[in-house]
Amino acid sequence: MSAPADDLTAADPGNHQPLPDELRGRVILVTGAGDGIGRAVARALAAHGATVVLSGKTVSKLEKTYDDIVAEGSPPPSIAPLDLENALAGEYDAVVDAIAETYGQLDGLLHSAGILGQLSPIEHYPMPVWVRVMHVNVTAACALTQVCLPLLKKSPDASIVFTSSSVGRRGRALWGAYAVSKFAIEGLAQVLADEMQPGNVRVNCINPGRARTAMRLQAYPAEDRSALPEPSELVRPYLFLLGPASRSITGRSFDCQ
Ligand code: NDP
Repeated sequence: MSAPADDLTAADPGNHQPLPDELRGRVILVTGAGDGIGRAVARALAAHGATVVLSGKTVSKLEKTYDDIVAEGSPPPSIAPLDLENALAGEYDAVVDAIAETYGQLDGLLHSAGILGQLSPIEHYPMPVWVRVMHVNVTAACALTQVCLPLLKKSPDASIVFTSSSVGRRGRALWGAYAVSKFAIEGLAQVLADEMQPGNVRVNCINPGRARTAMRLQAYPAEDRSALPEPSELVRPYLFLLGPASRSITGRSFDCQ
């Protein structure tokens, strides 16, 4: 299986025009749903009919996303806090057990949570930060995927989406553990996509590109933020990959912009 970075226009997810109810009936777990891109995608999924399980570290942020979704008249979501840095195995199980008990199904999993760590040359990169970044961005995403798989495999059309980055395709000085973690995510997605064939679970990667979020501010503090797209402007490819339109697509990696 080859997994080149695909131009979105090749499969057209960037231009996908989702129907108002395109995701109705789907239950989708979103990590990082309290902020940035994850929050915007969670709202968009709900606006197109999905029941979204909002996961993240800071409960007050998840509650804000929850309130917005309810206020927008979308299907009521639920909240599943999970600190990907510190959670133990039982807490991962608890999230998926609650989904199974509440909904009896899981049709999508978007990994949007992530941390930047520190911008520093490898020569001086602090190993404790390295371990944290690799754990949150890679190991925790893999662990959450693992516990979700039994439920996802019962879905007639399940989609797992991992979040990559341009520095996860071509290494760049100073991006340290973050870049390496995104290379690892691309690899994880490819391996898992291959393992899920044949079957009903597809696995893809998406690189959102630059967006006006807290992480971007941390990486580029001096940048003119007014020129950056809002996360809400980037949601279409996510709707495509998590919805029925991408049913035959797996093992691929997309650039959002
Ligand atoms: P944000 O910093 O805005 O959001 C990151 C999210 O991850 C937050 O909801 C945060 O929750 C959550 N998170 C962080 N640590 C943990 C943890 N220990 N446990 C659970 N959740 C955690 O980032 P973006 O929205 O910008 O990034 C989303 C994804 O897109 C990331 O994977 C990022 O690498 C990727 N990306 C972003 C780009 C950009 O320009 N913004 C460019 C390319 C890729 P909380 O707020 O509660 O800490």
